[in-house]
Amino acid sequence: MIIIMLGAPGTGKGTVATILAEGLNIPQISTGDMFRKAISEKTKIGIEAEKYISEGKLVPDDITIEIVEERLMQEDTKNGAILDGFPRTENQAKVLQKFLEEQGRTVNYAINLSSPEDEIIERIVNRRVCSNQECKTIYNVTLSPSKVEGICDKCGQKLIQRQDDTEETVKERIKTYKETSQPIIDFYKERNVLVDALVSKKINKMGKDIAQDLIKMIKGE
Ligand code: ADP
Ligand code: ZN
Repeated sequence: MIIIMLGAPGTGKGTVATILAEGLNIPQISTGDMFRKAISEKTKIGIEAEKYISEGKLVPDDITIEIVEERLMQEDTKNGAILDGFPRTENQAKVLQKFLEEQGRTVNYAINLSSPEDEIIERIVNRRVCSNQECKTIYNVTLSPSKVEGICDKCGQKLIQRQDDTEETVKERIKTYKETSQPIIDFYKERNVLVDALVSKKINKMGKDIAQDLIKMIKGE
């Protein structure tokens, strides 16, 4: 079971992916998290990726594809994985498809999240994440605050704001998304695996609601 999360930054991909991973008992693979880990560890990939990430630009395909394929070779993905943040270019989608098909696998669902732009910006600038690399729980100072301000409910470590979660970088990331997303959405639509979902407080549907709906659908309940 390979599930892909599509959608602009701040639509709740990470939140939905985490709940799906737990509900379906398969690992969540987040390229953004893998890059941030590499940056904090100052690895060669991290140093290279940081140049792009800090400007809201995409990291080049060769680097990104390498880290994803390496991760998908690991034993714990044999029953599947939730890919959160990959593919993000048409080329990445094509390379991934070929890579999976060579192993007799394919993409089963591509979840395409969308959200009104004003809600996206509000959600991102208010986003806080747990600084513990093993935890990385996502909070929002208005929508889903931690019980104690600045402290993670799950592990007690400090909450931080991501360096690229500023209004200026967010606008650039949304622009990048608009320029690159349509061919990927079409790619999965043509393969009949696209599932569209609107995340919006105006209709009282947040990531966690959508994730529950999806788990039911996937488990065929
Ligand atoms: P968001 O979806 O909120 O922008 P992510 O954590 O998914 O955040 O990604 C953070 C940054 O990492 C992106 O802005 C981009 O620079 C880089 N990145 C993540 N995934 C990819 C990818 N598949 N291809 C290229 N760059 C990526
Ligand atoms: Zn935590």
